[in-house]
Amino acid sequence: MSIQYNKHTFKDNVEENLNNSFMRGAVVSAQDRLRTGRINAAEELGDWEEWRAHGEEIRQHVLNNLDYYLHELAENVEKAGGHVFFAKTAKDATDYIQEVATKKNAKKIVKSKSMVTEEISLNEALEEAGCTVVETDLGEYILQIDNHDKPSHIVAPALHKNAQQVKDVFVDKLDYNPQKSAEAGELARHVRTTLRNEFLTADIGITGCNFAVAESGSICLVTNEGNAGMVTTIPKTQITVMGMERLVPTFEELEVLVNMLTRSAVGQKLPSYVNVMTGPRKPGETDGPEEFHLVIVDNGRSNILGTDFQSILQCIRCGACVNVCPVYRHIGGHSYNSIYSGPIGAVLTPLLAGYEDYKELPYASSLCGACSEACPVKIPLHELLLKHRERIVEQEGKAPISEAMLMKAFSLGGSSSSIYATGAKIASRVVAPLSKNGKISKGPGPLKAWTEVRDFPAPKKERFRDWFKEHEKGSDK
Ligand code: SF4
Repeated sequence: MSIQYNKHTFKDNVEENLNNSFMRGAVVSAQDRLRTGRINAAEELGDWEEWRAHGEEIRQHVLNNLDYYLHELAENVEKAGGHVFFAKTAKDATDYIQEVATKKNAKKIVKSKSMVTEEISLNEALEEAGCTVVETDLGEYILQIDNHDKPSHIVAPALHKNAQQVKDVFVDKLDYNPQKSAEAGELARHVRTTLRNEFLTADIGITGCNFAVAESGSICLVTNEGNAGMVTTIPKTQITVMGMERLVPTFEELEVLVNMLTRSAVGQKLPSYVNVMTGPRKPGETDGPEEFHLVIVDNGRSNILGTDFQSILQCIRCGACVNVCPVYRHIGGHSYNSIYSGPIGAVLTPLLAGYEDYKELPYASSLCGACSEACPVKIPLHELLLKHRERIVEQEGKAPISEAMLMKAFSLGGSSSSIYATGAKIASRVVAPLSKNGKISKGPGPLKAWTEVRDFPAPKKERFRDWFKEHEKGSDK
């Protein structure tokens, strides 16, 4: 899978998802649950705003000193006996991992959840190299066995499916007894048994990375299922793939960010598992891989550093912005046509994959600011969306023709008081054939898309200026 899911237009994807009532019901109930959980968990900490400010400070400090901390991390991973590979592009990363798999003669690879491996299409690359790749995060596993369905949320990838739909997939693909219930615990137990054998027979374990700790060269993985522990302890070779910005200087900052991540993502004080690993197994240790590789992926991130969009690299992938977004609530994650959906996706995807395919995403927002308010590391998401719009219009010249024409007409009228006054005088007469009861319900040209979903107020016959003059006269009497 790459960042992009399909070649359909944004409008087509949205239309398809708006008509998917199952998906919309599942998204609404998940959003409500996750948002309430986050608010309660944040309140427990006391002054959440202080925590947010601290989280922002940590992330900004890391980004402003990224070269220093990456160097320190790489040195410490190597000191601990691991190998480090800096991948400039997605292909550099997949080529390196393919090479490791080939050297190890790997047939089966188990993976824990990782957005960056999806971003670089790692599964496809490994399958091309003859490996079987098994996702072990429950949500990712459901999608994989359901004919490679796509993730619709950065934390809960199968959020668009309800329990009954998951049960149907299991009956179809995993010989789940149809008489059994669709209860989540029952379904999870079934998968646990199925996956156990995969863990025990895998040659390589691949993980993402929630945070890497520069001072020790450690990797931190935060999960609720314990699958990351299995992926990192059973196979003889472990490969961790991380986005180049996912660093903290020391364990002190790790503690702060893990606390904020779990509260913001799923409303938990702490997740069930926080795995911290440093290099391969040492003499005398009873578990852990014999060989450890850390692949640090750039893939466009360094182009964002030092620009107006740098703050998006502060992201800790908690999904809180997605869980409050009113647009995501209606159109669901698949409409974004990107592995990164919701407000974080609308900002990040055009930066990583370009405006050509993603110029509509920054417009998929009401700019209400709920995302910026929910973000634990204070990324001004709605402002970044506006910056994208500015760029799309000014630098890229990619504004819709109708919008560009309207803006030109408006700027012409607005720049001359006489043209403006004449325009205001004749406007109501010009649109009279289209208006009824003060509203335009079937607009032509650029107004069409608007009036398809809501009325447009028709210009008043009497200009405000004239009304005011009359009103003044009246009050003189
Ligand atoms: S942008 Fe903020 S709220 Fe959204 S996923 Fe990233 S850290 Fe979480």
